[in-house]
Amino acid sequence: MICDNLSINEQGHLCFAGQDTVELAKQYGTPLYLMDADRIRHNCRTYMSAMRKAYGDNFEVIYAGKAASFKQMYRIMKEEGMCVDSVSIGEIFTALSAGFPAEHIHFHGNNKTEQDLAFALDQSVGTIVVDNTDELTALNEMAGDKGIKQNILLRLTPGIDTHTYEAVSTGKVDSKFGFAIETGQAEEVTKLALSMEGIHLEGFHCHVGSQVFDSDSFVMSATIMLGFMKDIQTKYDYTAETIDLGGGYGVRYLESDPTMDIEANILRVADHIKTTCKELSLPLPKIMMEPGRSIVADAGMTLYTVGTVKEIPGYKNYVAIDGGMTDNPRYALYESAYTLVVANKAGEAADYIADVVGRCCESGDIIQPKVALPKTVVKGDVIAVCTTGAYNYSMSSHYNRFLKPAVVMLEQGKSFVAVRRETLDDLIRFDN
Ligand SMILES: *Cc1c(COP(=O)(O)O)cnc(C)c1O
Repeated sequence: MICDNLSINEQGHLCFAGQDTVELAKQYGTPLYLMDADRIRHNCRTYMSAMRKAYGDNFEVIYAGKAASFKQMYRIMKEEGMCVDSVSIGEIFTALSAGFPAEHIHFHGNNKTEQDLAFALDQSVGTIVVDNTDELTALNEMAGDKGIKQNILLRLTPGIDTHTYEAVSTGKVDSKFGFAIETGQAEEVTKLALSMEGIHLEGFHCHVGSQVFDSDSFVMSATIMLGFMKDIQTKYDYTAETIDLGGGYGVRYLESDPTMDIEANILRVADHIKTTCKELSLPLPKIMMEPGRSIVADAGMTLYTVGTVKEIPGYKNYVAIDGGMTDNPRYALYESAYTLVVANKAGEAADYIADVVGRCCESGDIIQPKVALPKTVVKGDVIAVCTTGAYNYSMSSHYNRFLKPAVVMLEQGKSFVAVRRETLDDLIRFDN
């Protein structure tokens, strides 16, 4: 099993967070997102305790809300003492509606509009991660009008290619995000921010990639960020209070993926940071991390019902399920790998190869090609797709006007609806 919240019971049914998924499919219907709240909390605590061990109280763990954003997520984050990242006022609004404190929200984005910035200032969002000079100038004016000093981090690109998939690697010099250190633009904008009345520059942010399984890219980016911090201190007599190293630790989608020891990695990076600060005679800044995927991915599962099995002799087999790229677009987008299990036949040998496809009008509507399933797979079976907690619900769409599934939370042996299933009336509520 790819995560220890998965098991098989005596009836041969797949269990998730100790609960029978076949029963959950019956109770709540399919397609259905499940979220294991206990696993989300466990993942938060792994980060919080490792960071505390590494840095005392001088750290923050910031959940990247874009991985899964709905009110119940923010209630959990508040209870676990996490901060959150938002990339839109929609995410900020969701967090605030759930009672999440504004001062613990970090607002990201490479093109925040003036309405976005006005909303963030009105709501007293704690930190704005500034991505470009137009934004900085607008923010300074708006903060000036309000007579406040807005706390910001500057997003920098340390120039690292994490060797992960191109579309999710964001720390390179030619990225659409942030200011490049290499070109001198990071220094220029730092100088500008320090000169502004309406701005309090707390420090520097970077985010080098996603689905990263080692410490190397964090060690490299820390080296570059601390070097930059030193350079700025020497030239401008400004010592950054905070360095934010971003998110990106990987999760297991397949049995063959490595297991990530998050605590060991955090401690390794912390050792490096402390040594480097000593070498550069810098005070140890507050260190921030922004995990998204590794907080929620393995806490999620999607359940579907098989509608039909199509065999094309000599070619291939298809198993069609009652969802698709509308609830999980990640294979269609970047050929993401997933582990699939026929939940009501989880104990059976799986040696029948089929593409598991959705019901959208797109040939690319594939959940996963060449999946090994029991050869008895048939209409009515429940298929579980594992590790769907990150970037599934949050990337879901209404293509073909399919309804978005419910999100059901599993907690301490109980289940409850965190996001209700959409209705046909929901679909047309904006149509005149
Ligand atoms: C997406 C993102 C994260 C989270 O990345 P994961 O790979 O989900 O951990 C963190 N910080 C920023 C700025 C991001 O854009």
